Parts: sequence; structure tokens; C-alpha cells
Amino acid sequence: MIQVFENYPISSLNTFKDNYVTRYLVKSNNPVDIAHFIEKHSNLPYLIIGGGSNLLFTKNFEGILIIFNSYERQILLTNNDTVVLRVGASWDLDKIIEFAIDNNWGGLENLSLIPGTVGAMPVQNVGAYGVEAKDVILQVSAFDLKNKTERNFDKTSCRFTYRDSIFKHNYGRFLITAVTFRLSNNKHKFHVGYGELKKHLEKKRLSLKYIRQAIIDIRTNKLPNTNIYPNAGSFFKNPIVSKTAFLELQKMYPGIPFFKNNK
Ligand SMILES: Cc1cc2nc3c(=O)[nH]c(=O)nc-3n(C[C@H](O)[C@H](O)[C@H](O)COP(=O)(O)OP(=O)(O)OC[C@H]3O[C@@H](n4cnc5c(N)ncnc54)[C@H](O)[C@@H]3O)c2cc1C
Repeated sequence: MIQVFENYPISSLNTFKDNYVTRYLVKSNNPVDIAHFIEKHSNLPYLIIGGGSNLLFTKNFEGILIIFNSYERQILLTNNDTVVLRVGASWDLDKIIEFAIDNNWGGLENLSLIPGTVGAMPVQNVGAYGVEAKDVILQVSAFDLKNKTERNFDKTSCRFTYRDSIFKHNYGRFLITAVTFRLSNNKHKFHVGYGELKKHLEKKRLSLKYIRQAIIDIRTNKLPNTNIYPNAGSFFKNPIVSKTAFLELQKMYPGIPFFKNNK
């Protein structure tokens, strides 16, 4: 099924609440229908959107905004150590993190409260508090809008690096339809070394729920609520510098926060 809206207000579709309109808004749970609509309007640019939390519109969008609707949620495998969970692209990421933790499945807890959808998560390899999407993603399922074929990307073919992936470099070509996560079952490895998080936690109390709550508390105190102050989070990436340059900086600013880059 496909729904097409003309001259649709953008303000409800992005966290900056930009007050513009898009020529078309297309919603569908069928990637083939989406591909046909794009083909029929090949004179117009198009943009796939999720929750609109990493987008800034500066004028009306004379093109097609695409929202893919899929709320599937399937456990593909479960054993003593691992759960493999496939999730439709439209799910709110934080809802899935909450669902995982309620089931005592680990891996996603450090990403708590990152706004946006599961489908957008691989695009910039979202990350926070020492964990990145790549640490939990097993496979990304996508629809190639150019060749009209389904494609499955394993972790290597996603080419994840710091806030980057293959999906950022083939802009608009791959409509991400689902993400498959490999999560820990029962025995968890906690990632609590990240400075600010470490300060908040008592070692004895470590659990998935406890870590999630600590991160929610830190983020709620630090980041403006997009419903009150429209925003799109941080605009910067941590710079990667040589060890020599870092040591120079550290001489000047002994308290400078840093993270080792093992690549
Ligand atoms: C307050 C705040 C805090 C944030 N904190 C963090 C943080 O800690 N770490 C972090 O990494 N990011 C953070 N972000 C950025 C943002 O949450 C992420 O980039 C998130 O993944 C965007 O999801 P979205 O669904 O809103 O995507 P959108 O903003 O709608 O889209 C982002 C990009 O993904 C593409 N895209 C979306 N869905 C699909 C799909 N199904 N298939 C193919 N391409 C798609 C879009 O074309 C666009 O290029 C923050 C943002 C805000 C507002």
C-alpha cells in the first residue's frame, strides 16, 4: 500500500521542526511501490527519512520525502549466549532498546535515548558512551532503489567506521528495510569505561537496566529535549589526531578528554 501526500508540512517530520513543506510525502510498506513512484517522478530529488532527528531543512523541499513503514520484530535465533533479533526499519530505536533490556538481552543499552529509527541507525553507525551500531549489528537488509532488488549487507559489507557506513556513500540508493542484531543472552559484557558514564555507576550494581537508566539520566540532563528546543543533537565529530599531536595538546591541557583509536 502506498500513501501520497502533496505539499505536506515538514515540521512534524523533523526534530528541528522546520516550518517548510515537501512537494510529496510518500509512505509505504512496499519498497517496490516506492521505487516505482521515484521512477515516475524521476525529475524530482528524493530523500528517505526516519525520525528526522539528523536533518535540517533550509527551504521547502521540491522533491519526494520517503517514509518506509515496517514494524516487524522477529527472534531468528536464541540460545544460552545469544539472541538474534530482526527489527523493521520504522521502529523507534529506543523502544527496541527498552524491549531488549526487558528481555535481559544485552548490547544496545549504551545507545539508550538516541533519537531516531532503527532504519537510520546503520547510516551513520550511531554511537554513544563507548558503543556503536556496528558492535551489535549482524546484518542490514535493504532494497536497492536503482536495481530494484533486495540486498543483505553483513557487517563487513556495511563498511562501518566512525559515524560512517556504505549507506552514507551511496546516498539514496539503499532503502534500509530491517536491521538484524546479535545480542547477548544472560551473560553480558558491560561497556562502562566511558568517562562520564563511569563516574555515574557503582560497580556492584551493574545490570542492563541500571546502565540504561544512568545513560538516560546523563542524556536528559545534558541534551535539550527536542519537543521543547528543536535541535538535531551534536554537530561535531571527535577529531582523530596523531599521537604526537595529542601529546602536545595534553601538555597544554592536562585534563583533555580523549579516547584511544585502535585503527
Ligand atoms: C538530541 C539528539 C541527540 C542525538 N544523539 C546522538 C548520539 O548520541 N549519537 C549519534 O550517533 N547520533 C545522535 N543523534 C543523531 C540522530 O539521532 C541519529 O543520526 C539517528 O540515527 C537519526 O535517526 P532518524 O530516524 O531520525 O534519521 P533521519 O534524521 O530521518 O535521517 C538520517 C539519515 O538517514 C537516512 N535514512 C533514514 N532512514 C533510512 C532508511 N530506512 N533507509 C536508508 N536511509 C535512511 C536519511 O536519508 C538521512 O540521510 C542525536 C540527535 C538528536 C536530535
